[in-house]
Amino acid sequence: MSISDHGPRRVLCVIGYPIGHSVSPAMQNAAIRALGLSLTYVAFEVHPRCLGDAVRGALALRIAGMNVTIPHKSAVLRYLDSVSPRARALSSVNTICFSNGGSHGDSTDGPGFLASLRDEGVDPAGRRVVLIGAGGSARAVAHALLESGAAAVTIAARDADRRASALAALAPADIHGRLRGCSTEPKDLHPEVADADMVVNCTPLGMSPRADAMPPVDTDWLRPETVVCDLIYNPPTTRFLQSARARGCRTIDGRGMLVHQGALSLAMWTGFAPPTDTMREALDQQLGV
Ligand code: NAP
Repeated sequence: MSISDHGPRRVLCVIGYPIGHSVSPAMQNAAIRALGLSLTYVAFEVHPRCLGDAVRGALALRIAGMNVTIPHKSAVLRYLDSVSPRARALSSVNTICFSNGGSHGDSTDGPGFLASLRDEGVDPAGRRVVLIGAGGSARAVAHALLESGAAAVTIAARDADRRASALAALAPADIHGRLRGCSTEPKDLHPEVADADMVVNCTPLGMSPRADAMPPVDTDWLRPETVVCDLIYNPPTTRFLQSARARGCRTIDGRGMLVHQGALSLAMWTGFAPPTDTMREALDQQLGV
């Protein structure tokens, strides 16, 4: 829908269901204050039945930008006027820009993950990476790793159909044949993990309030040189990361990705480079770290 109108756009938001847990308002408002912008960022709980109304409403209310989180990242595509090639390939949108020309969706999850590696001085080029999970975040991370020159990317997931559909979606980005699938059965996953330079948990296993859960990886399979990442940020140090550290592995938690995917969204909406240190402080305060 194209709307020609004038006047300021002052509100940014995140939609999800549920949304009460969201740390994005604290993180984004800290950056907005530091940049001295006349914007405010709020969270809206949107029932899946109301998703189309929420996007149309945002356009009508002249919302400046919207983050999209679980469970709407895939479903929202059909309500947008345009989406980036990356978001189309991943079938996942976490950032919407509104303008008089309509709504445009993109995904900053993959670039956010890469930026979190960069912060830690880790370059994925030439590395063999195993991702546990085949959902939206696994696809985004796999896409970003393929684009940044990883030597091999294995998607390990329990559900063969979900795994196959992730591999099919990523096939166009896999021009050098570096992507493959694997079950989470120990006989399949053990050799993949033992051979990996990097293992990334892209499942919610270990996330609060079920912080005792572990992804289906025996950390005895890990080599001490392997970098182990978890996309989960609450708790910041999951049981999986604790166990990998005890094995001697270097670990990277999900806070860096969260900060950078949010900073990239804010940069798209405002054109300014957000202060990621300030965002990280606000996030840590929210998490009680
Ligand atoms: P998703 O689309 O629901 O995918 C979750 C994946 O985990 C699916 O492949 C699912 O397999 C698998 N899984 C769930 N329970 C499992 C179990 N018991 N055993 C084996 N596999 C299991 O979720 P997502 O959006 O990718 O998010 C995954 C995690 O990443 C969440 O914790 C989320 O908070 C985190 N995340 C963090 C950031 C960040 O910025 N740090 C960004 C995005 C996501 P099935 O299909 O078989 O159920």
